[in-house]
Amino acid sequence: MVASQPVGAISASSQQAARERMVKRLAVLDGVHPAVIEAMRLVPRHTFIDSALVAKAYEENSLPIGYGQTISKPGVVARMLSLIMHVYAHAGARIPGRLLEVGTGCGYQAAVMSHLATEVYSIERVRGLHERARDNLRPLRVSNLHLLFGDGMAGFPSGGPYAAIISAAGGEAIPQAWTDQLAMGGRIVAPTSTDGGRQVLIVIDKTPSGLRQQALEAVHFVPLKSGVD
Ligand code: SAH
Repeated sequence: MVASQPVGAISASSQQAARERMVKRLAVLDGVHPAVIEAMRLVPRHTFIDSALVAKAYEENSLPIGYGQTISKPGVVARMLSLIMHVYAHAGARIPGRLLEVGTGCGYQAAVMSHLATEVYSIERVRGLHERARDNLRPLRVSNLHLLFGDGMAGFPSGGPYAAIISAAGGEAIPQAWTDQLAMGGRIVAPTSTDGGRQVLIVIDKTPSGLRQQALEAVHFVPLKSGVD
């Protein structure tokens, strides 16, 4: 008799090995914060995507999640979340209060964020994705993550003020609701179109002397849309 191992056990350990390789690759990138790497080590990315794509879960890919939307590449998630860790260092706190994510998608980045803050609010405008994220996150039992269905261009005033707001979709401009709901010392990280039609990562810091904006590298995110589907 050949001893058989449960299939699930084999694939779970190979997924874990693939995840270890991913975090090792990300950890050596410039400016990536160790707390973000730790958080990404804890979240099983392969459980957020279609089973047909599982073999690609830990590669440097953006992958389709249905409804014409995509989950961001691991390197982009690491980069954006590391940009908000800057705020934490300045606040002198290991873990800051509240974060807002616009564009829950499959819920992966929200799950990573839940390890980086006291409370995380994540809003999605496509009902089918909002429900899928809920299903994906259920087994992880993340008690400090609040999933909301609605138009994130209006932010979510009752969860704020936020230490940081991250958008996973790119608009023409940063909505004023976001800067209004940002705490003093807080930071927005969002892809935004430039006049030339390129999309770049924009960082806005709320300081006592006003809003300070920086434009960083070119990126490719799905469009930020108003209303709900
Ligand atoms: N962070 C997600 C990435 C999803 S892609 C993940 O880890 O899977 C970006 C998402 O933004 C899409 O699901 C899209 O439907 C959503 N989106 C676009 N405009 C939005 C808006 N105004 N409010 C909320 N979500 C929006």
